[in-house]
Amino acid sequence: AKEAGRNNYQFYTEGMQDREVRRLELDKDLNRALSEDQLVLHFQPQLDLATQQIGSVEALVRWQHPTRGLLPPADFIPLAEESGRITDIGRWVALAACRQLAAWQGGPLEHLRIAINLSGRELEDHDLVENIEAALRSNNVSAGQLEVELTEEIFIDNLEHNLDQLKRLNQLGVHLAIDDFGTGYSSLAYLRDFPVDLLKIDRSFITRVTERHDDAVITRAVINLAHNLGIQVAAEGIETEAQLNFLRTHRCDLAQGYLIGRPLPVEELETLVAKGVDL
Ligand code: C2E
Ligand code: CA
Ligand code: CA
Ligand code: CA
Repeated sequence: AKEAGRNNYQFYTEGMQDREVRRLELDKDLNRALSEDQLVLHFQPQLDLATQQIGSVEALVRWQHPTRGLLPPADFIPLAEESGRITDIGRWVALAACRQLAAWQGGPLEHLRIAINLSGRELEDHDLVENIEAALRSNNVSAGQLEVELTEEIFIDNLEHNLDQLKRLNQLGVHLAIDDFGTGYSSLAYLRDFPVDLLKIDRSFITRVTERHDDAVITRAVINLAHNLGIQVAAEGIETEAQLNFLRTHRCDLAQGYLIGRPLPVEELETLVAKGVDL
C-alpha cells in the first residue's frame, strides 16, 4: 500500500493478487530492460561556485521503455528496491558511469566527476565494493572521479555493516556524499564516525531559502557545520538567481538545480559544458 500513487505501473485500485502480478511483470520487464540496454543515464551539472566551472555531474537513471516512453526513476526504483532488482540496476549504473568517464578521457570533459546514487538496499550487497572497483578498473578510471550519494537512512540500521562498506569505498578512493541532507532521522554522530566528503542540502530547504527565515538559518548552519568539519557542501534544487546568490554569499561550494541545468542526455551535457554557464 506504501507504493500506491507513486508507481505508474499501478493504474487502478487492484486486488492483492493483481498487484502481485503487476509487480512480477514489472520486475520481468526491468530484467529485460537491463539485458536489452533500455536504461540510460542523464547527467545533471553541478556548478563549482569557486571556479564558476561545471566540475561534476550527477548521474540519474531513466528507463527508455519500449512502449511507455522515457520513465523517471520514481516509476521503477522503489519497486526495484523491494524486489532486490536494484542491485542489478546499481551495477549497471556504476558500469555506465565508468564507461562515460573513460569516454571523456583525453577530451574537454575529462576533468568531470560523476556522482551515482546508491540506495540503502544496494549497500547491503556484499559484492558492491568489488563491483565498483571492477567497473573502475576495467575502464581505467581513477576512483577519485567517482562519487557515491547515499541518504541518511544508512545511518539508522545495519550501522556496523554500512560503516564497513563506506570505509571500503573510502579506501578505494571513491568520494562519499550524503544526499538529501537534513531530511533523515539519523543523528549527526555519523559525521564524526564516517568518512564523508560532501553534504548535499536537500531541495526542501533551498526552495524557499530566500523567503523563509528558518530555511535560511538551517541552510547557513549546514554550510558552516560542513566547513568546520572539513566537508564540502552542495545545494540541490536551485531554480532562481536569488537562491544561487544566497548560496554564493554564504560560501556554498557546489550548486545544482534547474537554473544551472536539468538532467541531460550526454550529448546535451557535453554542449552545455563546452558553452559554460553564465550565472
Ligand atoms: P535525488 O538523488 O535526490 O535526485 C534529485 C532529483 O531532483 C532528480 O529527480 C532531479 O531531476 C530533481 N531535480 C534536480 N534539480 C531540480 C530542481 O531544480 N527542481 C526540481 N523540482 N527538481 C530537481 P529524478 O531524476 O527524477 O530522480 C529521483 C530520485 O530517484 C533521485 O533523487 C534518486 O533518489 C533516485 N535515483 C535516480 N537515479 C538513481 C540511481 O541510479 N540509483 C538509485 N538507487 N536511485 C536513483
Ligand atoms: Ca542524489
Ligand atoms: Ca537529493
Ligand atoms: Ca531525493
